Amino acid sequence: MREVDVAVIGAGPAGLFAAYYAGFRGLSVAVIDALPEPGGQVTAMYPEKLILDVAGFPAVKGRDLVANLVAQAAPFGPRYLLGTRAEKLSYADERPVLGLAGGEQLGCGAVVITGGLGSFSPRPLPCADSAPGAGIVYFVPEPTELADRDVLIVGGGDSAFDWALTLQPLARSVTLVHRREKFRAHASTVARVLSLPVRVVVNAEVTRLFGDGTVTGAEVTVRGGATETLPVDTVVAALGFTADLGPLAEWGLRLDRRHILVDSAMATNLSRVFAAGDITEYPGKVRLIATGFGEAATAVNNAAVAIDPSAHLFPGHSSDAG
Ligand SMILES: Cc1cc2nc3c(=O)[nH]c(=O)nc-3n(C[C@H](O)[C@H](O)[C@H](O)COP(=O)(O)OP(=O)(O)OC[C@H]3O[C@@H](n4cnc5c(N)ncnc54)[C@H](O)[C@@H]3O)c2cc1C
Repeated sequence: MREVDVAVIGAGPAGLFAAYYAGFRGLSVAVIDALPEPGGQVTAMYPEKLILDVAGFPAVKGRDLVANLVAQAAPFGPRYLLGTRAEKLSYADERPVLGLAGGEQLGCGAVVITGGLGSFSPRPLPCADSAPGAGIVYFVPEPTELADRDVLIVGGGDSAFDWALTLQPLARSVTLVHRREKFRAHASTVARVLSLPVRVVVNAEVTRLFGDGTVTGAEVTVRGGATETLPVDTVVAALGFTADLGPLAEWGLRLDRRHILVDSAMATNLSRVFAAGDITEYPGKVRLIATGFGEAATAVNNAAVAIDPSAHLFPGHSSDAG
């Protein structure tokens, strides 16, 4: 069984900052996330948007904020277990033991749950089974990898249109297919995309994908019957996400609907289990990145004392660490 001092569940903004703080306190840390990339909601839903209310950044692109949080924690060597869901919580000698998807056990001194909306997974492209997986993506971690590709984006929300704006200058061609005539995306983003050489096909669905090992083409069917086949190297499925508390709901945590009740130390009702970020609930709770950062610092510093009661709650100033 692997052992760490602090196991952080969720690699969103709160979890990444918790990883920094655990490292700063000299604690070893593992960060577990069901998604394949760090960044939580920011990476999954708005990596290209500017965020205007993170202290110290007049404006920061979602992708850059996540990269900076990862860089900030990096000197302490957090162990990332991405694409891995935390399924079970038990105790051995009063220390928490997490059961991870795939059967691995992770023993730890304390758990910090920064699970945000809970486990969320991308809505699958309905015709994805008609072709091998390569070439169908739900995130674009590195847009430059799609340079000179024929890209097909499926969806009509903010993510779909943000991907169109990001990829149009890089890709050989960008086609956006949406099954309705109206878009959920912000009107100004839609207008910007429509002013670019992006082909937008409405009232249409991707009905089949072609390819041997990787996608090479897509059949697009417009409502009413007309069908065409497009050359496609990459399909970006931007159909939204489904979210629920998932296995955390079965751990015996005191909950208020989909949130975990915490006290002012960010402690839950379970021994050595703390929580921070969007997943927490208390009177006056405000769900913002800024709030999650403060809660992460409080949770980890209190976790440090739970692990070693002789430790100071106050971590000292990072500016003194030099
Ligand atoms: C479109 C949009 C725009 C936004 N704009 C802003 C803004 O401008 N300013 C602002 O402050 N906030 C904004 N927000 C809200 C902000 O993104 C959230 O407050 C923030 O992401 C919460 O961070 P978090 O770390 O608590 O959780 P999340 O970002 O939700 O991350 C939680 C992570 O936990 C993982 N997880 C959950 N359960 C498990 C499990 N059992 N095992 C493994 N992994 C698990 C999930 O996969 C997820 O990656 C916006 C949100 C959206 C959707």
